[in-house]
Amino acid sequence: MKTIYLDNNATTNIAPEVLDEMLPYLSEFYGNPSSMHIFGGRLHRKVEEARAKVANLIGALPEEIIFTSCGTESDNTAIMSAVESFPHKRHIITTRVEHPAVLNFCKHLSRKGYRVTFLSVDSLGRLNMDEFMNAITDDTAVVSIMYANNETGVIFPINEISAVSGERGVLFHTDAVQTAGKIPIDVRKLPVDMLSLSGHKLHAPKGVGALYVRKGTRFYPYIIGGHQERSRRAGTENVASIVGLGKACELAGENLYEEVTYLKNLRDRLEDGLLKTCPDARVNGDREHRLPNTTNMSFEYVEGEAILLRLDEYGICASSGSACTSGSLEPSHVLRAMGVPFTAIHGSIRFSLSRYNTEEEINRVLELLPGIIKELRQLSPFGRQKTG
Ligand code: PLP
Repeated sequence: MKTIYLDNNATTNIAPEVLDEMLPYLSEFYGNPSSMHIFGGRLHRKVEEARAKVANLIGALPEEIIFTSCGTESDNTAIMSAVESFPHKRHIITTRVEHPAVLNFCKHLSRKGYRVTFLSVDSLGRLNMDEFMNAITDDTAVVSIMYANNETGVIFPINEISAVSGERGVLFHTDAVQTAGKIPIDVRKLPVDMLSLSGHKLHAPKGVGALYVRKGTRFYPYIIGGHQERSRRAGTENVASIVGLGKACELAGENLYEEVTYLKNLRDRLEDGLLKTCPDARVNGDREHRLPNTTNMSFEYVEGEAILLRLDEYGICASSGSACTSGSLEPSHVLRAMGVPFTAIHGSIRFSLSRYNTEEEINRVLELLPGIIKELRQLSPFGRQKTG
């Protein structure tokens, strides 16, 4: 049975071109990029080449890119750097719908005595801008707001928020882990100070990420030790994965505009098809300002986990926003923050596509899922009542 992988916001496959580029750096070129001998020079050049490719994807300068071990490290580093750089400032602004990489780090800082404002969102997952304008003060060390949400795909007005932060002299960080490689980002036009990205969300391997830090921004390293990454992130470089990340960024940049259209058409075909064929289905989140590859849908009167298990029998991979996913016992904090009714949260499924998905795969889901949902509703006492 062929797998139909529609869980690309969780992680992506490594692109074949990326793997090819990486393999020599896992075998014959095993040296340390800091060494003086032949290995060192070659590896150092290769790391710098990758840095330029990552920079190019977001319109940055190569020296503005710091390689990290993952998106989480990039997020933690950015926030920690801001609070260390402005020790007299004790306030942080973020949102209630961030990934745990930001949310839990901010909760950790709040336990350390920082005041943290968690901005709310409306029923479409849109940020409350008035709340943001009222929250920002001279005591704010950093505003950290995600570019696009991993569960719903909703895109925040980063341009506007970062401009306000800049005018107020407050550092602005955005978690663009789900955004980089999915829609164009250009930091020459976007006044962000720091931006996180992660390899495994854009067809590079897991365990490598990058943090963009605008030239001139005060920076304080989070991982302290050797002089790698111009003393901004210690630790011998993960050369093969860095090379992979560079190649993945190059590939993403080459086909970005075509892929946006391709993915949007595919996603809309899936979404519209399911809305038409499944009664009591809804889309969670602002359908207009959304990543092209993501849809978060709720099917009332049925459990998300039950849908996932049935889809899995056909080799179809997606994820759910209800309880017990990803090792969490709590229903999605994002959908709760949006005020999605409990019954809809429990029946929520996220489909996230990539350039490797095809129309045939989407047709297969459209062929199977309405029947699965009908069947599950008939099995559930609540569903039986509803569907008569
Ligand atoms: N931020 C967002 C929005 C994410 O979706 C993820 C991963 O799901 C992360 C951060 C963490 O990235 P990593 O898995 O590379 O640590």
